[in-house]
Amino acid sequence: MVALLRCGGFCGHRAMGAAVIFVSVVLLGLVSVCFASEDEVKDVTSADANVGAHYRDNLELEAALKNFTQRCRHISRLYTIGNSTLGVPLWALEISDKPGVFEPEPAFKYVGNMHGDEPLGRELVLLLADWLCDNYLKDPMASLIVDKIHLHLLPSMNPDGFAAQNGPTRNNAHDVDLNRDFPDQFFPQNNNEEKRQAETRAMMSWIRSTRFTASASFHEGALVANYPWDGNPDISQKYATSPDDSTFKYLAGVYANNHPVMSKSKEFVGGVTNGAAWYPLYGGMQDWNYLHGNCLDLTLEMNDQKWPHPTQIPRIWSEHRKSLLELVAATVKSGVHGRVMSSKKAQPLPASISVSGISHSMNASAEFGDYHRLLAPGQVYEVTASMAGYSSRSTFIFLPNHTAITLDFILDPLPAAAVEEEKKTPHTQAPGEKAETKTPVTKPGKTPPLTTEEMGSEEVIFRKPAKSLRNGLHSVDEEGGLGSSLPLRLIYLLPLVSVAAVLVCLFLASRGSYRYNTARQRLSRV
Ligand SMILES: [Zn+2]
Repeated sequence: MVALLRCGGFCGHRAMGAAVIFVSVVLLGLVSVCFASEDEVKDVTSADANVGAHYRDNLELEAALKNFTQRCRHISRLYTIGNSTLGVPLWALEISDKPGVFEPEPAFKYVGNMHGDEPLGRELVLLLADWLCDNYLKDPMASLIVDKIHLHLLPSMNPDGFAAQNGPTRNNAHDVDLNRDFPDQFFPQNNNEEKRQAETRAMMSWIRSTRFTASASFHEGALVANYPWDGNPDISQKYATSPDDSTFKYLAGVYANNHPVMSKSKEFVGGVTNGAAWYPLYGGMQDWNYLHGNCLDLTLEMNDQKWPHPTQIPRIWSEHRKSLLELVAATVKSGVHGRVMSSKKAQPLPASISVSGISHSMNASAEFGDYHRLLAPGQVYEVTASMAGYSSRSTFIFLPNHTAITLDFILDPLPAAAVEEEKKTPHTQAPGEKAETKTPVTKPGKTPPLTTEEMGSEEVIFRKPAKSLRNGLHSVDEEGGLGSSLPLRLIYLLPLVSVAAVLVCLFLASRGSYRYNTARQRLSRV
C-alpha cells in the first residue's frame, strides 16, 4: 500500500489492473477447483469403490444411501415406505430432476431383496443410482431417465431376512414368503389386507399412492424376465394370459434383448416366461401391482446362482446395466401418453383410458389429467377416454417401434357436468372474453393445466408424434446431451465467463499502461 501511494497515478493504474487480473485468475482457478473437486468426490464416495468387496449390511446400506443423497442431492431424495417386521426402515431412493414433486411424468420402481437370501438387488440399485448420477447431463440415456421419469429404487424389501441371526433367509422375520403374501385374485382368503406382513402392507400402500407406470423386482436362482399372470384359477401349470399379455411380453423382451446372455437362454425362449407357465404361485407381488396399482410389474431373475460371490457383482452389473436402463426408458420411449382436459374450463380430468381389445383400463391423474399407457409397439390401437358426466372420445393410433405417441383428449361436459363446473368456478366468463388467458396459479414445480388456447380453438382430439412438448415427452434420440435443466447448463458457462473476465482485465491493464506512457511522453515534451 505504501508503495502504491508513493508511485502515484502510474502505479495506481498498474496495480489496479494487476489486482483485477489476480482476482480473475483466482476466480478461474476456483471454478476449475470446483469442477475438479466434484470429480474427486465422485471417485472417493462412489459405490463403485465398494463393489466386489462384500454385500453391505443394513447399516452400511443406509449409510451408502445417505452418502448418495449428499453426493447427488440435486437429483435425489431418500425416504422410507415403512418399517420391516423388526423395525428396520424400508429405504427408497427417488431419482429425478424434481425429486419429491408430482409431475405429469411416468414413475418407475425397482425393488430388490424381496427374498432375504437374494441380495443382488441391494447392490445393483446403488450401482444404477451411481451411474445415473455420474452420467446425468453427459449421457442421453441418463438425462432422459432423470428428466422425464421419476425413478424409485428400494434396495431391500426384506432387510430382516437378509440379516437373520442364523444366516440369510428367504422369508421375513415371521417366516412368511413376501412373494406369497399379497391378496390374490383367485383366492378370496388372501384378501384380508390387515393380516399382511409389515413389508407387504408398506409395499401395497406405496404402490397405491405413487401411481407407478411400470416396475420390476429382483430375484435370483434363474436368468429370465417373468411376467403376469402368476397363477391359474385351477392351480394348473399352464400359460395364464393377462389382458396386457402383449405389453408384458414386450417389456420382458426389452429387458432380455438388452442382456448379452438372457435372450439366448436354452431354458426360456427369448429369455422371457409367463409366470404360471413356469410355475404357478399365489399371493405374488407382480399380479397385485397390475390389478390394484395399474403398474406393469416384472419379476426379474438376475442370476442362475443365488447369492453369487461378491466378486461377481461387477460382471453381473455390466451384463444387466443396459437392460436396467432400457426397461426404465421404455416408459417414455413407447406407449401412448397424454392429458385429458375438459373443453369448458380446460381443467384436468381423471378420466379412464381404455384400449379396445384390452380389458384393463387405467386412470389419468386428477392433478394434471396425465396418463401413461404402455402398449406393445407395431400395432393399431383404438384408445378411448371416458369420464362420468362427459362425452367419451375415441381415436385410432398406430404405435410405431421405438417411439411414443402423444395423444391428448378434450372432453365435452354433458349439461349436468357443465353446471357443476360453473359452480366450482367463482369467475364467470363474460361474453367474448378470451378463455383462460391469465397464467394459472400453480404450486412450484407443477405444470399448469393446458389453456383452451393451447389446446386449439377446435374441440378435437389431438394426435401427434412424441416430438410434442405438450407433456414433455421425447424419444431418446431427441434428447440433447445436456438435458433441459437450465441452472445446470449455466454452470457450463462459468469457465467461459471467467476467461472473458480475464481478457477484459488484460485490456484494461494495457490501457492503463498506454495512458502512463502517453503521460510520460507529454511530461518529457514539457
Ligand atoms: Zn426370489
